[in-house]
Amino acid sequence: MAAKATSWSKPVTKVLRADGVRVGEIDTAATPGFKGNKQDGEKLLQERGAVLSDLQERLYANGRSGDTRSVLLVLQGMDTAGKGGIVRHVIGSVDPQGVDHAAFGVPTPEEKKHHFLWRIKRKLPRGGQIGVFDRSHYEDVLVVRVHELVAPEVWGKRYDEINKWERQLVDNGTTLVKVAMFVSLDEQKKRLAQRLDRPDKFWKFNPDDIGERAYWPQYQEAYQAVLDRTNTEYAPWYVLPCDRKWYSHLAVTELLIDALQGLKLDWPPADFDVNEQKKRLAQA
Ligand code: ADP
Repeated sequence: MAAKATSWSKPVTKVLRADGVRVGEIDTAATPGFKGNKQDGEKLLQERGAVLSDLQERLYANGRSGDTRSVLLVLQGMDTAGKGGIVRHVIGSVDPQGVDHAAFGVPTPEEKKHHFLWRIKRKLPRGGQIGVFDRSHYEDVLVVRVHELVAPEVWGKRYDEINKWERQLVDNGTTLVKVAMFVSLDEQKKRLAQRLDRPDKFWKFNPDDIGERAYWPQYQEAYQAVLDRTNTEYAPWYVLPCDRKWYSHLAVTELLIDALQGLKLDWPPADFDVNEQKKRLAQA
């Protein structure tokens, strides 16, 4: 039987909200708000992917007609949390020309010369686009904090700076969908082991990822600070359990659908006389 949208017992926008979440207590194998199993989830993902695709096309069409609004999906998570999978399976269901994708790794020497938001601002989605950040400005209060890449006085000020900047973004018409992705330490080990077992996954393996596991508690603390200090009304965080990939794909699809529906997008009206053009075409 086809899974229905009713497989959700509660809206994902409510169950995943970060309000009051303690990072150390997240059940990373849970499927909050979803009643079905993996098969139901995968079936539903297809249906909802089509809905997302339709909404994205509307956003794009409006963008072509001068609408400057956009949606920005921010994906933050530990290695192996599945950021790439979200990009492939969720964003992959929409027209690539409507997607502005950016990944943020270790800053280049040029990027290092600038304020931490400099490289981020250059990659913001244009009007009518869905932007996707695979890692983001939050690295500057996560890896940077954990490894003390700058002094605490420097990273300490960044939370307020981020809030202020995100406020401006939202005021300028970008809907932010911030997703913090969590896997368990065990699940991460399994995923890293898989990368080492499969030649088709070697390219994803980074020997440094093993060393980072020793910093798990520090990362948890840093993620907690992010959730405590940057979970605003205008740019809330969603906490996504990621041990089950099918759930994380489905949940992010729903978050994006919700964000796009919030824009109340109609198809832009024709800027030409439709009947006149029909007549012309008939004679052409
Ligand atoms: P991924 O691991 O997501 O496949 P990359 O290998 O390109 O991507 O690089 C990601 C690495 O870059 C991560 O270890 C991340 O912590 C690091 N990184 C991202 N932003 C920063 C930053 N601002 N400062 C230092 N390191 C950063």
